[in-house]
Amino acid sequence: MERKNAWEAYTKEEMEELESLNQDYLHFLNQGKTERECVTEIVKQAEDHGYKNLKEIQKDGKKIQIGDKVYVVGMKKIVALFQIGKQPIEQGMQILGAHIDSPRLDVKQNPLFENSDFAYLDTHYYGGIKKYQWVTLPLAIHGVVVKKDGSVIEICIGEKEEDPVFCITDLLIHLSQQQMEKKANKVIEGEDLNLLIGSRPLASEEKEKVQAGVLELLKQQYDIEEEDFLSAELEIVPAGKAREAGIDRSMIMAYGQDDRVCAFTSLVAMLETEEVERTACCLLVDKEEIGSVGATGMRSRFFENAVAEILDAMDQYNELTLRRTLANSKMLSSDVSAAFDPTYASAFEKKNAAFFGRGLVFNKFTGARGKSGSNDANAEYMAFLRKVMEDANVYYQTAELGKVDLGGGGTIAYILSLYGMEVIDSGVAVLNMHAPWEITSKADVYEAKKGYVAFLKCK
Ligand code: MN
Ligand code: MN
Repeated sequence: MERKNAWEAYTKEEMEELESLNQDYLHFLNQGKTERECVTEIVKQAEDHGYKNLKEIQKDGKKIQIGDKVYVVGMKKIVALFQIGKQPIEQGMQILGAHIDSPRLDVKQNPLFENSDFAYLDTHYYGGIKKYQWVTLPLAIHGVVVKKDGSVIEICIGEKEEDPVFCITDLLIHLSQQQMEKKANKVIEGEDLNLLIGSRPLASEEKEKVQAGVLELLKQQYDIEEEDFLSAELEIVPAGKAREAGIDRSMIMAYGQDDRVCAFTSLVAMLETEEVERTACCLLVDKEEIGSVGATGMRSRFFENAVAEILDAMDQYNELTLRRTLANSKMLSSDVSAAFDPTYASAFEKKNAAFFGRGLVFNKFTGARGKSGSNDANAEYMAFLRKVMEDANVYYQTAELGKVDLGGGGTIAYILSLYGMEVIDSGVAVLNMHAPWEITSKADVYEAKKGYVAFLKCK
């Protein structure tokens, strides 16, 4: 049952394809460090490949038909791409799903304060993080500030070479005797995640002079007032670019690979696949890291509504056709898997762990403690996928998140399964999951994309 390492068998052509795909992946990671930035980049790439905004088609009173490529965006944070297949759509679609939100620190609504001649932004972390990993790193601010008149100011500070960066401080080791005795989840507490943003007081009579200086700069450079933080979405992420890792350059080290590694590979597979039999769909969602909530999370009706609009644009909408289209669909719900880490081997069960270089990972079930919250895919569906992957010479492996009683995690798979479609958790193995810098294998990126293409081509 041991799976082979894909690196050992690559031809020269495959290595070239692999490297070129991973260069594109680095670019994607650098363009999209927030869900909004990802949607902008995804729409740009989709339009370059002939996809059209469904809303524009509808506005022109036009219809869609076999071969047409369209996309639907919700609130700039969730996106679905469709390519209409030759088969009647009510026989189901082939859906690739992944999420584009990542763990980070969000700026609070009333964030700015001054203490001891330092100005800070107060934050609330988003998703599951080891808080102690987010201190003493260069950090960047990405996001939007929306003014009362509706104008949107885009913010990105800390990514350009000449930009300033930000930081959350930690206590020096010399004085950490008590801190070092604390449990890891208490070493840095949530309310101590204060982003240091300034230290130069204004030469004025004002009370909080450093804060006043920061506000003056925000006004000059961005036309933002302190009250405008009330209608802002500012995300604090590690500053800096995605990099190749290892002397053999076999890996990628970057922020936000959970789950942009699956979003990117799903997107590329969708964009390069033409003339599909079954309608192809690529669904990239927000809010997975906080339970798929909100209007842009998987639990919203966004996707169901988008499919209803597709049917309507094909003159086929009725409730039963919508139900059949969804129920007859098949989905690869992709999210990162925990890569086996020999340094922490005791957390894994080696027979059922995901390894770097062994390809696309299928998790029949995820969940925590007794499969709780798991989608638990059907054996029949897993058998179907084994054949699809093997016929296309895709390296794949099966895995669980870790040892049975140690923890667990959820994905979006169970939400799609509510429609009665076949869904399985799949994806790419990652080291340091949810840390500021996560690591993946270039071979797994390559095999995932190959696997997704094979899936979209199914009859
Ligand atoms: Mn994830
Ligand atoms: Mn995650």
